[in-house]
Amino acid sequence: MSFDYDFLVIGGGSGGVRAARMAATYGARTALVEEYRMGGTCVIRGCVPKKLFVYASRFTDLFEVAPSFGWTVNAEFDWPTLVANKDREIARLESAYAAGVEGKGGTIFRDRAVLTGPNSVRLLKDGRELTAKYILVATGGQAHVPDIPGKELGITSNEAFDLKALPHSILIYGGGYIAVEFATVFAGLGVATTIVYRGDKILRGFEEELREGLEAGLVERGVKFIYETTIRALEKQGDDISVSFSDEVVAPYGAVMFATGRRANTAGLGLEAAGVALNPDGSIPVDKMSRTNVDSVYAVGDVTGRAQLTPLAIREGWYVAETLFNDNPQWVDLSLVGTAVFAEPEVAAIGLTEAEAATHGDIDVYVTRFRPMINTLSSKTTRTMMKLVTAANGGKVLGLHILGPDAAELVQMAAIAMGMAATKADFDRAIAMHPTAAEELVTFKSPSWTWRDGKKV
Ligand code: NDP
Repeated sequence: MSFDYDFLVIGGGSGGVRAARMAATYGARTALVEEYRMGGTCVIRGCVPKKLFVYASRFTDLFEVAPSFGWTVNAEFDWPTLVANKDREIARLESAYAAGVEGKGGTIFRDRAVLTGPNSVRLLKDGRELTAKYILVATGGQAHVPDIPGKELGITSNEAFDLKALPHSILIYGGGYIAVEFATVFAGLGVATTIVYRGDKILRGFEEELREGLEAGLVERGVKFIYETTIRALEKQGDDISVSFSDEVVAPYGAVMFATGRRANTAGLGLEAAGVALNPDGSIPVDKMSRTNVDSVYAVGDVTGRAQLTPLAIREGWYVAETLFNDNPQWVDLSLVGTAVFAEPEVAAIGLTEAEAATHGDIDVYVTRFRPMINTLSSKTTRTMMKLVTAANGGKVLGLHILGPDAAELVQMAAIAMGMAATKADFDRAIAMHPTAAEELVTFKSPSWTWRDGKKV
């Protein structure tokens, strides 16, 4: 049977673009269909603009310590300038994403694709039906907003990137990545910021000390926390939004932002027509090769319900192309994936938490806390925290957890060593670079505590 294309990708985000570019590089006749802007969540309304906004908000921290270095700073912030400059950079990246596919010979359709069978899609605007030997679904996810009265008055991260003006105050609902990153941004830019979370501590799943340390850092930044509380309803109150909480408190905020998770973008995609099975939460189950239950249909990235992280989507997309068009079957090893939260202080982690490692065998735990050098001349109290978890007696490094400046950069580099099964002794062999924060990781003398036979010693 002949097809219009060898490979048809739905979705021009990180995973889809990488897959399409690599497939085209290997000579596959490749098409990519994107209904919105090329670049996907990460480039258009996720990682990239978020990090730019975090940078903007971190000037506050520099201004705070500047007098201790002899500087007098009279700083003013202009939100529209930041938004305009962010938009310019995103437009540049968007063009680069499109050029990456087209430059390798792929074709981009600016349309919405709906599957009509295991090897075909219909372009909704154009009306054309396209056939392909393989179809890759890389449609990502979208913000999930709990179904509460007045929810339409709130915003999500989508809108937060393009607010006409900063609100005087904001209530952020949720305790995950997006909640703490945007709390960092808004508080740093002078907005009175409150996080309301149904749990008792932010960043569920991360090492306890990181969760506590981040909360302390955000409190120092002026963020208020309301725990073990949910939002019952939102109502318009003049220019503000009146929020009714589960503990009967009612309070007004300038804006309310939902950061309550993201769900797979699978609605109305025609997956049923192609016979593709879905998980109960709408995501697409795939095997380790990213193949769905239908042999010709693959899926990568957030739409699969695996970890919602851009670098994974990119690697999954690349490996699908590698497997299908370069005779080189590859799958992503998910056993050692680092993750970073670009809050202030920054959080990054890789490998096992102490609690997880302690269930696997005897371990040593090395912990250090210190004031980042840039803060030592000022009264700023935020501290860096590093925790290294190793197998007992100088064994394999099992986990690394860092809170503090450049945490993500440090963990990214340590990931190479950990991927090579580095031991504590390997870390120790490295000569320290001084004065750095990273030198702490190679100069730990004796464990802060240990676990033997499942008990903390
Ligand atoms: P998260 O899953 O990180 O956090 C969602 C938060 O919302 C949790 O605190 C959760 O509570 C809470 N929540 C979920 N549903 C409800 C509900 N119905 N009512 C009240 N609270 C609710 O999702 P985010 O939206 O922050 O981000 C989505 C994903 O995007 C992240 O998981 C991450 O994978 C990715 N991301 C990665 C970033 C990075 O790499 N730096 C940055 C931003 C996003 P509970 O903890 O109790 O479940």
